[in-house]
Amino acid sequence: MPKVRIEKKSRQHNEIAKQGIMFNKDFGQHILKNPMVISSMIDKAALRPTDVALEIGPGTGNMTVKVLQHVKKVIACEIDTRLVAELQKRVQGTPLQQKLQIMVGDVLKTELPFFDVCIANVPYQISSPLIFKLLLHRPFFRCAVLMFQREFAQRLVAKPGDKLYCRLSINTQLLARVDMLMKVGKNNFRPPPKVESSVVRIEPRNPPPPINYTEWDGLTRIAFTRKNKTLSSVFRQTAVLTALERNFKLHCSLHNQELPNDFSIKDKIETILSGVEAEQKRSRTMDIDDFITLLHAFNKEGIHFS
Ligand code: SAH
Repeated sequence: MPKVRIEKKSRQHNEIAKQGIMFNKDFGQHILKNPMVISSMIDKAALRPTDVALEIGPGTGNMTVKVLQHVKKVIACEIDTRLVAELQKRVQGTPLQQKLQIMVGDVLKTELPFFDVCIANVPYQISSPLIFKLLLHRPFFRCAVLMFQREFAQRLVAKPGDKLYCRLSINTQLLARVDMLMKVGKNNFRPPPKVESSVVRIEPRNPPPPINYTEWDGLTRIAFTRKNKTLSSVFRQTAVLTALERNFKLHCSLHNQELPNDFSIKDKIETILSGVEAEQKRSRTMDIDDFITLLHAFNKEGIHFS
């Protein structure tokens, strides 16, 4: 019947118009539309009725309203004020309203509140800074169940020798246990993103390893710029030597130590590397313990990365 067809068409039109107006690619807005995926993320987070849950980028609140039913409180951080309004409308006048606190703004520029669990389908373009913001946040949270672009998730869990093993893998795994939970195809989102997704669980190591993270990060930054090269060749690069020499001289002057006349940063580093038999090692196959040994050896000799 013509009437029905017109109605259908106009509904479709509304959907398209809604997508066009509502979803902003710059903010990575891809709404999770499959309720099964949402429930299974909630299961994996093992939420408790006493928990404060942090959600990053709640969007229109598909996940938020479900999480609210399992916890004491949800704190949701959203950058787009139009979506904040949608979310507010969605809980208004319901019992869930009291339990929801919305923080409006860029999560990367916001001081995070206390939370027990983080659960989110995050905007993919902020994945990397967001992970480290969460992992360096104190007090510790219990766990995070997060949706990422699949390749990013694979890098998070990659082990030494894996093709995707990189600085992100080792830095994350130093601070947390990371598990791959499930694959999520692009059609579970609206509008569908160009990339496939995966959900991971992140549990911070508590207590954290007794390592100065800034030093660690400085070392892995250098070591993984050429992850297939031997460390001895990585540490022969002029830019690396110059930076380390500057740090070393600063360290000496702070500790009132005199620099020997024949001082050579290159020789010093070679000696340190050979002392821990690391000259021929390559970052792509080195594990966390290998890097801890290396960092201690450098620091003991006054070589610093920050
Ligand atoms: N979680 C929702 C929406 C995911 S889309 C769902 O699964 O349906 C990503 C969301 O993150 C969008 O709502 C977007 O506006 C928001 N966002 C993007 N960048 C952000 C930032 N820097 N800080 C906080 N929220 C952000």
